[in-house]
Formats: sequence, structure tokens, C-alpha cells
Amino acid sequence: MFDKILIANRGEIACRVMETARAMGVKTVAIYSDADRAAKHVAMADEAVHIGTGSAPADSYLLGDEIIAIAKATGAQAIHPGYGFLSENPEFVDAVEAAGLVFIGPSADAIRKMGLKDAAKALMEEAGVPVVPGYHGKNQDPEHLSGAADTIGYPVLIKAVAGGGGKGMRLVEDPKDFDEALKSAQGEATTAFGNPDVLIEKYIQQPRHIEVQVFGDGTTAVHLFERDCSLQRRHQKVIEEAPAPGMTEEMREAMGRAGVRAAEAIGYKGAGTVEFIVDGSNGLRPDGFWFMEMNTRLQVEHPVTELITGVDLVEWQLRVASGESLPQQQDELTITGHAFEARLYAEDVPKGFLPATGTLTHLQFPASCRADSGVRAGDTISPWYDPMISKVIVHGPTRAVALSRLSQALAETQVGGTVTNLAFLGALAAHDGFSAGDVDTGLIARDLDQLVQAPMVKPEHKAAAGMQALGLTNTDWDTGFTLWSDMHRSVHLSHQGEEFEAMVEVDGPDRQIWAIGEDQVVANRIGGAWVLGGDRLPPMAQAGNTITVFDGYGIQFEVIDPLDRASAAGGDMNLIEAPMPGLVKAVFAEAGQKVKEGDRLAILEAMKMEHSLLAARDGTVAEVLAAAGDQVEAGAALVRLEEAED
Ligand code: ADP
Repeated sequence: MFDKILIANRGEIACRVMETARAMGVKTVAIYSDADRAAKHVAMADEAVHIGTGSAPADSYLLGDEIIAIAKATGAQAIHPGYGFLSENPEFVDAVEAAGLVFIGPSADAIRKMGLKDAAKALMEEAGVPVVPGYHGKNQDPEHLSGAADTIGYPVLIKAVAGGGGKGMRLVEDPKDFDEALKSAQGEATTAFGNPDVLIEKYIQQPRHIEVQVFGDGTTAVHLFERDCSLQRRHQKVIEEAPAPGMTEEMREAMGRAGVRAAEAIGYKGAGTVEFIVDGSNGLRPDGFWFMEMNTRLQVEHPVTELITGVDLVEWQLRVASGESLPQQQDELTITGHAFEARLYAEDVPKGFLPATGTLTHLQFPASCRADSGVRAGDTISPWYDPMISKVIVHGPTRAVALSRLSQALAETQVGGTVTNLAFLGALAAHDGFSAGDVDTGLIARDLDQLVQAPMVKPEHKAAAGMQALGLTNTDWDTGFTLWSDMHRSVHLSHQGEEFEAMVEVDGPDRQIWAIGEDQVVANRIGGAWVLGGDRLPPMAQAGNTITVFDGYGIQFEVIDPLDRASAAGGDMNLIEAPMPGLVKAVFAEAGQKVKEGDRLAILEAMKMEHSLLAARDGTVAEVLAAAGDQVEAGAALVRLEEAED
């Protein structure tokens, strides 16, 4: 076994790998970018070395040569790549090995063989693995491709052979749209991957995404059963589970065998995932699944497999990379119970899943779940990387029990300081179709409106925030609460920009009567615990003027200081501000220009996405305060409109 390994990654996966390494007595070296100086993975590692010249991945976590030099300098014998970044980069694997180090993962050759979708499909076909019917040949002549689409039969999917993350992919339902879709897929593929080549595939109706976890020693491989990742939003996984609902023994055998065949065909070493698309329109059938691609690394959703098999996949990775044989044979592997994983993100779901940044003023997970997280309370979600806060992972003896544990764990997760997708995840966990195991990749899009509802803010929540704001949650005599305290007090609060006044009549240390608009809420302390309108006072956290009430997945209130109000009023409509830190990609305004409400005045690139910034009203541009290429902070003014004449 290695004495010391370097983890060429950050965030939750770096922490995840370190946990197992520590349990195995293996020392760890972390690397960190500027933005990650104080990150959790840095604190967890035995040693940490700063890398690069900036926070962007290209200036830090993607600097392969520098990573190898750090491994050498610190005496690490092996490099664990995590996922993303350099994990599927064969040149990096070659360089690691040339430096006399071990890459904890497959060979460069195996990665190359699965790197392009067309070559991988051809190889899998040869190995007897079912592939989606389609054309994956070399001829890229548009006429030839559209002819292939006709032969396959519509609807078809055009996919960039170098694709990933859903880029360069187009669904074509009607032959007349083929040429245009082809052009746009090729354009996107060229920009994203520098390779315009595409393949054409039959579009599977009501598809399910079921993948097989495989593990190889370079010659033979075993599988650790399947995961169902059909709950996707725009081809991104949201909730994953294992095993797949409705899976039959017969189909599991067939899929497992296909996964093992795929891994053995390329001499696979380490943890990998073979992704299949499954026709779910008529139940699961052993002849109804087809190879899509193989991910030659550990996956984000690996914990659900760990919980049903009892295997620590990172431990297996370290053992096999250090030369041990496979820790278990196929007949020793079994499934116990059911597991779910939900991906908790800092994002504003009602605003179109807008990624958010911010400092996590409060972060707490219930003991009943496994929370794999790369952040702690007090850490920031920076604009440089993926805004994942944690993975919330649960296990239960049956799917129904595991799902109700997921619902409960999500309801009890407390995040303060940023918006999150908790309510969305909670709504998904409660979705009838999902509960029934009736999943397909279109479920989220079909029921989006129902899943994206803003949380219900009740008068009790407002009263709770008022209690927190006025320091009335702990009214014991010995904490200074006295009969001489003001009996009537009030506070101004706001929720999502909507302001209200909460007034209270304090009727002794154990009773308060709150009036919020027309609503009245009576708070009574019974047996030491506050009860508001029949429910226990929810937990709360306060950071500065922000109070989060942990009910309904976290409801945030702002305490309004009456003195601040005058200066803040009115300014907003005149300024177009950066909603988060980022890079100004383009500015479409010039001084003197007339604009209409909703006109796009600038584009901000942040959190790997582009955001249009719009005029809040009709007016005239007074001043342009930023230029394309500027890096700006949250709240930075980009464009100012002339004062409105009214
Ligand atoms: P990428 O590598 O860009 O993520 P994939 O080939 O893995 O692309 O496909 C991403 C997702 O697109 C799948 O999980 C599935 O939801 C959908 N998809 C892919 N191929 C098909 C197909 N032939 N028919 C229907 N849906 C598909």
C-alpha cells in the first residue's frame, strides 16, 4: 500500500478520498487554488500545497505538470484524480507514469478507447455489448448523415463524438429540421471540444438512464450492480438511486455481464461506470438496454453503490492501484436494501436554477444521512467552481423506507447564507411518479412547474423570525428578561423583497402574542419549548441581518434597519448590477442610448454559465461602468440609467 498520495482535486471528492485514505493509514497531500486557500479539503489533508497562478481551473487544478512536480516534491507515490479536472485525460496519465508515479485509475490506453463516442460504440459492438442503433462511422458528409437518419428512423439524436455534459447534442423529430440541427450541433462541438464530428442515434422514447458500476484489475472485472440516474434536468443528474426500481434479476444479469464485457474489452483497471440507455416504455426487458458511454473514473453518485454493497470504492481503488488483486469476486457481491443520493446545490430554483454564491453562515445535516460535502459552516461557495454544497445520501431496507428517509433528511438539512435547491429536491422526493418508481429522463421537465413552487411562508414563520430578531426566543428571567422589558415591540422584516412589520405583545416569559398584518400568532412556552400556532418553534440561524427559519427547506428573512432604508430606496431601478461575482462578457449599452424594460444590457459569465442582465425599466443610459473582460464583484454597478422623470 502507498504511504502517501496526492489528490489532484478539490471539494467534496477530495474530502471523500481523504477520508478513506486516512482510515487506511495513507497520508494525503492536497493542492489548492487561490480561491480554495481556506477550503475544507486543505484542512483535512496532512499536507497542502498551493498551485498555479489563479483560481480558474486552467490556472490551477488543470496544471498537470505542476501537480506531478508537487507529488514528487512531497514524496507522494500516487495521484488520485477524483472526477472532472484531469481524471479522464490520457496525456496526464502518461505524464504521471513517466514521472514514476502511479495514477489511481485506468490506463491511458483504456481512457483513449472510451474517449470518443463513435470509437467506443464501435469497440463495444465488437465486444458484444448492445449499442443504440445508429450511425457512428467516419463519413461526415451532411447528405450521408441525413441519409443515415432516414434509415434509422425519426426521432433521432445527433451527438458530438467528443461530447460531454450534453453539449453538441440535438434531438431531431422531423427530417426537415435535420440540416439545421446538424449545423448547430457541429458548431457547438467545434467550440466546446475542437472536434465537429457527430454520430446519429435512434432517440429512445421515455428513456431511463441506468448505469453499471464496474471494477477491474486490468484483466478481469466485476460489477457492483446498477444505479438509476433517470431523474435529470437538462441531462444533469439530480437524484440517483440503487438498485434501479423495477429491475428484474434477468435484466440485472444481462446488464452486469455487458458492463463487465465492456470493462474487460479495454483491460480496465479501477472503478468505472458503463452507462446504458434503457427503453422504459414497456417495463424493463433484458433486450431493452443499449451502451451509451463509459466514464473511466469514480462517479459523483458512487455512494449509493457503496451503501447497498458495503464496499468502500475508494479503498478498492487504492488497493488495486497499489497492486492488490480485486478485493471481492462477483459471487461475493450482494445487494442489501436501497439507497438514494440527492445533489444539494447553491442555486435559485425559481429563478431558473441560477447558480448562487455566498458564505454558508450555517450548515447542518441530520445524523440519519451520509452527507459528503466539501464545505463547512463559514466556507464560501465561490463563483469559480461547481456550486455543490453536499450530497445527501440515505439507505434503507426497502425503496419506500429509503425514500422516506431521504425526504426526512432533506427536511432536516439546514443551510444558511445562500439559496439552495432543497425545496426542489424535497418536492422530487415527494413526487408520486417517483415514489412509485415510475421514472424516466423526462420526468423533471414534464412536472417542472409543480416541482419548482416557492415555499409557503406562514404567519408562524414570520413570527419566528420576529422572535429571533427581537431576541425573544430565550426569555428566561436569568438571561436578563425582566418584567420591565417593553411589553409592546415591533420589528420590520422582509422576505424576498416583500416587507412586513411583526408586532408583539409580550405576556410574561412564556407567552407572546404576535400580530403580522391581519394574522395573529400566539406563542406559548410549554415544557421549556416554544409552540407557535400548534407547531414547535423551528430551528433558526442568524448571520448579520439575515435570519433563516429552518422549516419548509429554509425560509430567509432580512431584518430591516429603519435607518438604512432611506439611503437604499430608489437606487435599484437605475442601476444594472452584477448579481454575483463574475466576468463581464459583453456590454450592449452606450451613454445616451434609449433602452426599454427587459432590454439586454450586458452578459455576465459566472459559475460556468452566461447570465443576461436586463434593464429594469425604460430609460436612457447615463453611464457605462464596466467593459467586456472586467472581473466584477457581486453588486458591482455595470450600467447606470438617467434618473427617471416622474
Ligand atoms: P454526454 O456525454 O454529453 O453527457 P450522453 O451520451 O451521456 O451525453 O447522454 C446524456 C443524456 O442524454 C442521457 O443520460 C440521456 O438522458 C440522454 N440520451 C442520450 N442518448 C439518448 C438516446 N439515444 N435517446 C434518448 N435519450 C438519450
